[in-house]
Amino acid sequence: MHKKLFIPGPVEVKPAVLEKMATPMIGHRSKDASELQKRISSKLQDILYTKEAILLSTSSGSGLMEGAVRSCTLKRAAVFAVGAFGVRWYEMAQSNNVPADLFEVDWGTAITPEMIDEVLSTGKYDLITITHNETSTGLMNPLETIAGVVKNYPDVVFCLDAVSSAGGSKIEVDRMGLDICITSTQKALGLPPGMALCTFSGKAIERAQEVPCRGYYLDLLSLYNYIQKKDYQYPSTPSLSHMFALDYQLDCILAEGLEQRFARHIDMAEYVRQWAREYFALFADERYLSNTLTTMKNTRNIDVAALNRELGARGYQISNGYGKLKDKTFRIAHMADCTLEEVKELIDNINDILKLN
Ligand SMILES: *Cc1c(COP(=O)(O)O)cnc(C)c1O
Repeated sequence: MHKKLFIPGPVEVKPAVLEKMATPMIGHRSKDASELQKRISSKLQDILYTKEAILLSTSSGSGLMEGAVRSCTLKRAAVFAVGAFGVRWYEMAQSNNVPADLFEVDWGTAITPEMIDEVLSTGKYDLITITHNETSTGLMNPLETIAGVVKNYPDVVFCLDAVSSAGGSKIEVDRMGLDICITSTQKALGLPPGMALCTFSGKAIERAQEVPCRGYYLDLLSLYNYIQKKDYQYPSTPSLSHMFALDYQLDCILAEGLEQRFARHIDMAEYVRQWAREYFALFADERYLSNTLTTMKNTRNIDVAALNRELGARGYQISNGYGKLKDKTFRIAHMADCTLEEVKELIDNINDILKLN
């Protein structure tokens, strides 16, 4: 039996999108490929509220995270972490020989504007990375206040990991001054895994032009230059299957209406939070809860694996805690095309299995 996924990626993908993945191939150097990629870019610009360039990468989101820190750091990167994915960005910098410092807060708490101001005011850094929505802790950093501080440092390239939020939560790339905003297909956009995308600002382009060793496959500047020169085609063969599916799914997202889509995510989040407060506890700071997934503290000491086995027999799957939070927490994702009715159905089943109520 297929298990409906309530895990923070890959998410449940609707059949119509899966069918688009099976579209017959076209040449990746054809006019049709250029048109396809142009349409995708323009729709992504709408969804991310930006006029800057869109880059697609046939990799998962981690590829563009690695590419961003390597392509655009000239002096030193300030990497802020609120959980596992923030730390991963620091490891990427280190393993690419990119000078970087890690600023980590206790898991479950948010980055404060004061922290950022203190770090950037040293003048040591020319790139900053922030995790928008930390998928290990269920915390969503306050982007607007963070962006307000980063704006005071015009030489700093602002990179945002929006992998588990973009498409499910409003991210106004241009108004926030984001230079590189990254996401993957398999989270709130509601597609299969295998492709990543990011915005790439004029500032990021200028910076990358000064960086000598940007790698090859994940060199964001070379991707950008190539699509400029070759009418939206990419240097290496992209996953055309994902592009057919993206072209279709982005239409669906825009047809739903962005405000409606974001509101649906908040409704689902509020339902799960309310349930969590009643029967467990929320792991993250109440002021900064994620709209796309909820991390519960396992205050009842339930056997998460056993719960998931029983849910599996009923056709559902949730997530255990991430890394060191395994069994201490568990997670329910409510993102992409998931509906409030489906979330309620899941929660009813959990209540039934755990004999809550
Ligand atoms: C899933 C995730 C990633 C990693 O993305 P991949 O597409 O799996 O490489 C990075 N950051 C966050 C916040 C995520 O949720």
